[in-house]
Amino acid sequence: MTDLTSLTLADARDGLRKKSFSAGELAAAHVAAVEKARALNAYVLETPERAAEMARASDARIAKGEAGPLEGIPLAVKDMFCTAGVRTTACSHILENFVPTYESTVTSQLWRDGAVLLGKTNNDEFAMGSANETSYFGPVHSPWRRKDSNTPLTPGGSSGGSAAAVAAQLCLGATGTDTGGSIRQPAAFTGTVGIKPTYGRVSRWGIVAFASSLDQAGPFAKTVRDAAILLRSMAGPDPKDSTCLDAPVPDYEQAVGRSVKGLRIGIPKEYRLDGMPAEIEKIWEQGREWLRAAGAELVEVSLPHTKYALPAYYIVAPAEASSNLARYDGVRYGLRIPGRDITDLYEQTRAEGFGAEVRRRVMIGTYVLSAGYYDAYYLRAQKLRTLIKRDFEACFEAGVHAMLTPATPSAAFGVGEKGGADPVEMYLNDVFTVTVNMAGLPGIAVPAGLDGQGLPLGLQLIGRPFDEETLFALGEVVEQAAGRFTPQAWW
Ligand code: GLN
Repeated sequence: MTDLTSLTLADARDGLRKKSFSAGELAAAHVAAVEKARALNAYVLETPERAAEMARASDARIAKGEAGPLEGIPLAVKDMFCTAGVRTTACSHILENFVPTYESTVTSQLWRDGAVLLGKTNNDEFAMGSANETSYFGPVHSPWRRKDSNTPLTPGGSSGGSAAAVAAQLCLGATGTDTGGSIRQPAAFTGTVGIKPTYGRVSRWGIVAFASSLDQAGPFAKTVRDAAILLRSMAGPDPKDSTCLDAPVPDYEQAVGRSVKGLRIGIPKEYRLDGMPAEIEKIWEQGREWLRAAGAELVEVSLPHTKYALPAYYIVAPAEASSNLARYDGVRYGLRIPGRDITDLYEQTRAEGFGAEVRRRVMIGTYVLSAGYYDAYYLRAQKLRTLIKRDFEACFEAGVHAMLTPATPSAAFGVGEKGGADPVEMYLNDVFTVTVNMAGLPGIAVPAGLDGQGLPLGLQLIGRPFDEETLFALGEVVEQAAGRFTPQAWW
């Protein structure tokens, strides 16, 4: 029997239906792989008993002919999703012992469809970061290494654990959240597929909030098809999240393999940055050729406000975070450091419970929302956000169906290599991804090749609102042309 962990989700689904192996065997193979890969620090909590129990229930349903769309599929869940009875920490000291009594909508839909929980994956604390280095549980080490080097590399962030787990074959798929790039950047760094759906496509209920007007959940997968299968289960209306679109979810898998002939693909000229590595430019050019060869029409477009997206994002996101994180006060959730009085208790708890990056964001956010600075920072950033959104709308109205850009301005870097002295150095990673969150659009990162050092590079496709299907169709073209990329196991 082939190693069950090397299967794609779609193959595993078909194998289970044909009874080539059982859900129990599939779960056990993944549990063993997870245990063997602890050096990666991808999981912050392993749930092997639960996995075995859920797999047993799946086998029973398969035997009765009642298999759901994800029946018996072992998945990993980012530690930002509340899981009932299973510790959920957002990788923060302040929530270190938090065990939710409720299940997020996304995960409850995955279990409804038959999926099996392997454990919770590592992420940047409260999803703030681009290298998984702000996690209270320590950084994730990417399963990828540079040619002839043992330097530990970052899998990206904030969903670093989910990306590493999919790339290292420690699950058949994983959930992520993306506020400014946290699905697409780690997907690009690890040679996996990651999609941030349109704002409103997936319910945010039960996901630890970072910046509520930007947060959106999506899947990580080995292939475009697998991502489509997962998104269908994750998406859908939810009365518990009023920002969630009340419309049926298409069968995204149907879009995989659909012709892209005649689609107009915008190439935004502002994404050609000074000092961008030649290899990024090369892979982008390669992507254009692949889409052209598949019958798409490439057009240069302009998104003139692109340069304001990153600074505006780093105002809006901390502002919302400072408000969302006000609830962690030592009284209602998690950690409590006693103090002289209630104010002292709040201060001690928050000073001890939050890491340095989270404290920085709370301070920036409080500052830009304060009476004297609100108009100068927050209001301006919101106006820029509208302009950024309009740039995209103008292109779509002019007939552009989707855009092609690089996913990241570089390949993965070393753990601890960036942002030590200057946090902005880390923020610059998000330059190609934050625009999409600011505009509320869907974006997918698809592996497109390896650089000279043998590290994955990804391309990003940005779509019209609620047109994830076109992204899956285009993503499949890239995947078919580029092939798939798996790291050499060293762990
Ligand atoms: N890297 C970005 C940040 O630090 C985005 C994080 C995310 O998408 N959650 O805010």
